[in-house]
Amino acid sequence: MTDTFIQIAYLVAAFLFINALRVLGRPETARRGMQMAALGMLIAVVATLFHARIVEYHWIVVGIFAGAAIGYPLGMFVPMTAMPQRIAISHAFGALAATLVGLGEYHHGFTTNHLDSGHVAALALEVLLGGLTVTGSIMAAGKLQGWLPQKPITFPFQNISNFILLGIAVIGFVWMIIVPDAWPVFIVMLVVSLAIGVLIVLPIGGADMPVVVSLLNAYAGLAAVATGFALDNNILIIVGALDGASGIILSLAMSKAMNRSFANVLFGAFGSDSVAATAADGSTGGEMKPVSAEDAALRMAYAKRVVIVPGYGLAVSQAQHQVRELADLIEKRGGDVKFAIHPVAGRMPGHMNVLLAEAGVAYDKLIDMDEINEKFPETDVVLVIGANDVVNPAASTNPSSPIYGMPILKVSEAQSVIAMKRGPGKGFSGVENELFFDEKTSMLFGDAKQSLVELISQVKEA
Ligand code: NAP
Repeated sequence: MTDTFIQIAYLVAAFLFINALRVLGRPETARRGMQMAALGMLIAVVATLFHARIVEYHWIVVGIFAGAAIGYPLGMFVPMTAMPQRIAISHAFGALAATLVGLGEYHHGFTTNHLDSGHVAALALEVLLGGLTVTGSIMAAGKLQGWLPQKPITFPFQNISNFILLGIAVIGFVWMIIVPDAWPVFIVMLVVSLAIGVLIVLPIGGADMPVVVSLLNAYAGLAAVATGFALDNNILIIVGALDGASGIILSLAMSKAMNRSFANVLFGAFGSDSVAATAADGSTGGEMKPVSAEDAALRMAYAKRVVIVPGYGLAVSQAQHQVRELADLIEKRGGDVKFAIHPVAGRMPGHMNVLLAEAGVAYDKLIDMDEINEKFPETDVVLVIGANDVVNPAASTNPSSPIYGMPILKVSEAQSVIAMKRGPGKGFSGVENELFFDEKTSMLFGDAKQSLVELISQVKEA
């Protein structure tokens, strides 16, 4: 009877998770998607508490309080700009849970003499994927937060030594299937997988970390699938498969939007000294043309068609509310304002959509790259706010540029451009941007929020 109740609850939870993923695909329904997923998780957790194998609850209560004490501040106080590293930390926790369950189950099976090859295969896979996801995610979070060097760290024969370690892990895995009670092999496999997590992330630059985080998300999902098989738990299998598949799809989508192969992201050491040196050659040698907030405001105030390009700098300065206020002001004066959304603007997919939605920018104002690119030639003023790589013409004009081939917003085709940034610094890829040296571009230097506040007050007076 109880088992039937649990399975029905799992079915309801699975339905909610799948629907949540569907609904999450659109900004206007994404909040509902999150609520559905949270409800699904609550149902799955409560149902699991009735499982016959749970004989006492006090450690579970301790776990709930510990989890809430860590989870609440992570959810409430971490700023949007730190979201990629926060997600990486969450993956580390999820994978740690899978790894510990794997270890616990193996220990339980070993002491009760209940280890068969199928069961151990699932446990070994769980520990292998879980272990490398724990350390890999911690490394990714460290790089994104700046606790570790962002530059790729490389050493001779790096890829070869990584493949050797991977080979040892695979041999250990096969060994465990043949000799299920070989516990020292199980421990070696765990240690090797922890080391692999550190070593595979070491040579990847900070700019590529979101792709890695999403890939590690997929590994954590696959570890959960293995846990589901080991514990004979259907909801873990379903959720893990959804997590694994969406993580892989997202990683591939991000690589595609940056026009980089998956192998190049994982083994290309993008952002290393050699790449930066090539990038420096991209400099035009011209001069940037600064503009005052007053002049920039006059141009914005009398423009008929304005396109705003938000980038990572907008997120850093948390200027989403000011940009919405400026857009509203221009529209009140009869101008038409649209926001151009590049798929990898910012540091994670959907970064700009989330920020602008939070500030109340209407969804129909957010225009995807392909659609807005056709509109630039008829745009009077493009306001680039803290975006750099995603508007760099070198991506389509300079075959020697490291970002060559990356699809960009064709801002340089507009009548005029006002670019807001703090100084002459480069974007995340370390590549010089010739757009900022272009004749029709004016530079409004300063923190994005500060400059927007000035622009707003000047437009009001214009
Ligand atoms: P970007 O190339 O990193 O440029 C951001 C610009 O913002 C910088 O040039 C910086 O110039 C400026 N800035 C920083 N803080 C600012 C502030 N407080 N006020 C005003 N300006 C500020 O950003 P992007 O154009 O959005 O491109 C995103 C990059 O991330 C791409 O290289 C993309 O491939 C990579 N990436 C994105 C994702 C994703 O999913 N979104 C995933 C992986 C990689 P100053 O220092 O001069 O101010």
